Amino acid sequence: MDRLQKVIAHAGFASRRKAEQLIVEGKVTVNGKIIKELGYKVSSTDKVEVNGIPVEREEPVYFLFYKPRGVISSVKDEKGRKVVTDFLPAIKQRVYPVGRLDYDTSGLLLLTNDGEFANLLMHPRNEIEKVYVAKVKGIPAKEKVRSLEKGILLEDGRTAPAKVKMISFDKRKQTAIMEIAIHEGRNRQVRRMLEAIGHPVMKLKRERYGFLSLQGLNVGDMRELTPHEVKQLR
Ligand code: URA
Repeated sequence: MDRLQKVIAHAGFASRRKAEQLIVEGKVTVNGKIIKELGYKVSSTDKVEVNGIPVEREEPVYFLFYKPRGVISSVKDEKGRKVVTDFLPAIKQRVYPVGRLDYDTSGLLLLTNDGEFANLLMHPRNEIEKVYVAKVKGIPAKEKVRSLEKGILLEDGRTAPAKVKMISFDKRKQTAIMEIAIHEGRNRQVRRMLEAIGHPVMKLKRERYGFLSLQGLNVGDMRELTPHEVKQLR
């Protein structure tokens, strides 16, 4: 559900302010009925008209992206660095990422123009599991791994319990590969968790987001989610 003035403004009909004015003046109808209430909520199937002219709603689109390292999780960058939307096919919709991955993190990132869907996925209540594979400095001892599993105190509070698997380690190089599954999405969370146990991250990749994986994709690939996948995530 979106606010009426937002829908009108989004369709490029008027600025948000002008849209509010049109509503108050009684120029806007929803399903044929004049609505003068600012903030009135409309769904994607409601028929909105301004002065009798239908407001074209942007078709919602959903993409799964295999973000490379060295790309910003944003739609533009003042420093001219690569951004996630540089990888989109030519579409008229304005999409943005659902949450973010650090500049140096690769892996699965969703993009959409459906604000309601994005908010739903990012809400902590929904507890979507995100699985990361990290290459770390040193070889974490069992009790360090255990402390991550139990939850660890960071400067913004204790983390929720995580699932942690040691995948492999290299004694000569003193590095290890670990898999970490978390539900939260705090800023730089995995890097900070591993730093906190004394094993800083050398490389980080998000492999899974809920039931979605990177299967069949190469770095930099973008594919549309199927309607079934979108439905399952809702
Ligand atoms: N945790 C991090 O530290 N970085 C990311 O990009 C995602 C999760």
